[in-house]
Amino acid sequence: MRLTIIGGGPGGYETAVKAAERGLEVTLISAGPLGGTCLNEGCIPTKALRRSADVADLVAEAAGFGVNAPSAAAVDLARVMLRKEEIVGQLRSGIEFLLKKAKVTVLYGKASFADSRTVRVTLNDGSETLVTSDAVFVATGSVSASLPITGADLAVDSTAMLSLHDIPRRLCVIGAGVIGLEFASIYRSFGSEVTVLEYCREILPRFDTDLSKRLKQSLSKKGINIETAAAVQGIEKQPDGSRKVTYLKKEQAQEVEADVVLMAVGRRPALNSLNFADIGIETGRGVTVDADFRTNIPGIYAFGDIIGGYMLAHVATFQGLHALNHLTGVSDGIDFNVVPAAVFTSPEAATVGLSEDECKEKGIPVECLKSNFRANGKALTMGETDGFCKVVAAQDGSILGCHLFGPHASDLIHEMAALIARHATLADLRDLIHAHPTLSEIYG
Ligand code: NAD
Repeated sequence: MRLTIIGGGPGGYETAVKAAERGLEVTLISAGPLGGTCLNEGCIPTKALRRSADVADLVAEAAGFGVNAPSAAAVDLARVMLRKEEIVGQLRSGIEFLLKKAKVTVLYGKASFADSRTVRVTLNDGSETLVTSDAVFVATGSVSASLPITGADLAVDSTAMLSLHDIPRRLCVIGAGVIGLEFASIYRSFGSEVTVLEYCREILPRFDTDLSKRLKQSLSKKGINIETAAAVQGIEKQPDGSRKVTYLKKEQAQEVEADVVLMAVGRRPALNSLNFADIGIETGRGVTVDADFRTNIPGIYAFGDIIGGYMLAHVATFQGLHALNHLTGVSDGIDFNVVPAAVFTSPEAATVGLSEDECKEKGIPVECLKSNFRANGKALTMGETDGFCKVVAAQDGSILGCHLFGPHASDLIHEMAALIARHATLADLRDLIHAHPTLSEIYG
């Protein structure tokens, strides 16, 4: 069977490798560099920056650990960015190797549908080629959204934040979602004065409210000024080149001055990436698909950010795997209701399953159990006691969700994901032995 995959991100390339390993003849078409948004301008580069930020934080706190070091770290942003580029380059080579080893044909260029089985590719050298196959997978991702306000073009997007030459003295972030908070946290550690303006009443509006409230307190303690219920009105350029952001809060006009303004108000499916309408592929907010990621055109599947929804790299990967399983008649037990998600602020936040708020909306009576990292021995030794854990359980004890922030929250969440996916109860959790002293004892 011949399969064409359009999009070289974690949805496209991971599926390409698996499909080729199953004996399919696979062509992968990528307009941008392999790895997509995740590797080139998202997950990986921001985590490289986060690690440099953590080192800066540790140096600043060294005396508290009995280690003499300069009182403030001097961050060399050029070196930070170079390290990030090296990591991205190394991972990109890894993907190229995997695809080569699996004998996937990779075409670098812009795809468009000639018909439902034929894809026209304008290769990066300007030449054109046609690829015909039995099935087509679309995984062309998303683009940054903006606001319809005056001066929106004076703000930068998350991609530009990954190649700044100087640490801004004052950074204003519009949107306290995942991207906004990660950059706010990174640049705060690098020494910027940071203000975050969020339209909703809480940060991370889609997360459990308890978690959002406590994480907000924790980030505020680190010196990040977070204004919630703030409706941004416009951005103006000042005579000295800086920006003035105006917003309404409690019907009062307010303003904040900044050297860099980051627009982080969400992403939207890249519906301009392909000529969907020409061959009749239905779209709404994103490409419309069924539970097996089939579009309305037989043989064409779509997954990842292009269909909207979670917009997470790991979700794209597993959606692609499910689409491939469906195409090749393989059954699987992937549960798309159990999706762990992490926010790489300092401290990290993570979530899986239902929040208390969602349970209330659905009328599910729940019991919530909470514990704090300040009572966890390992966290105390690490000097990272800020954080909490909240487990949401149904009245019969079934674990429905877990929401935490604190050290290594992004790793700790997976134990709960496994328990929820296997329909475990609080009694099952209480019977599990956790090694001492570890952060995972937070679940005890
Ligand atoms: P988001 O949807 O997570 O957050 C956008 C935020 O902007 C929301 O809090 C929203 O209320 C706010 N907002 C909207 N309009 C506003 C306005 N007029 N004024 C002020 N605030 C406003 O989007 P994002 O942070 O841009 O991230 C985009 C996507 O990328 C998300 O789906 C996210 O899950 C994904 N992502 C994930 C990770 C991760 O998993 N660690 C990291 C980065 C991005």
